[in-house]
Amino acid sequence: QELINKLEETIENFPDFPIPGIQFKDISPIFLNPKLYEEVIADLTAFSKGKVDAVCGIESRGYLFGIAIAVALEVPFILIRKKGKLPPPIISEKYDLEYGSAEIETREGHIKKGQRILIHDDLLATGGTTEAAAKLVEKQGATVSQFSFLIGLKDLKGEEKLKKFGADVYSILEY
Ligand code: 5GP
Repeated sequence: QELINKLEETIENFPDFPIPGIQFKDISPIFLNPKLYEEVIADLTAFSKGKVDAVCGIESRGYLFGIAIAVALEVPFILIRKKGKLPPPIISEKYDLEYGSAEIETREGHIKKGQRILIHDDLLATGGTTEAAAKLVEKQGATVSQFSFLIGLKDLKGEEKLKKFGADVYSILEY
């Protein structure tokens, strides 16, 4: 609860950014406070301790915490990137956005068959990005065991989209 309060004071809200109707949550002030950053990592690490064999972080804010979680857990960290940034061979997954579609990719062979995977990102909104990441993991014969986020936006029903993977879902903050 103390961590929740500190984060609520730290994360800044911007109405109508980047487009009208969106309330943008800016997590960057967390990095001005190394002690708070450590507490976030400790909390997210406690959720996953002993339960995963690797961590997948989603570009780019999923890297800011994901890699520290993986190092704390002493497991590999795998980058899930936006289209066109990784050299082949790659595995990719397309998904729909509000307007048009997007694609995410990982290097082939970084995720190993049978691994229990944590997928981490800073924020869960509609769940579209995370769902595509989970499909990407399953394509490679691994299992999504957990999802973690700093923030979950309840009204957008992202968690429901993730139910089919049968994994535990944790957000430090829920709105
Ligand atoms: P979704 O695919 O669940 O709709 O969107 C989640 C993705 O959009 C995440 O990768 C997240 O980083 C980004 N995102 C959407 N809204 C916000 C926001 O208000 N603040 C931040 N920090 N990221 C957001």
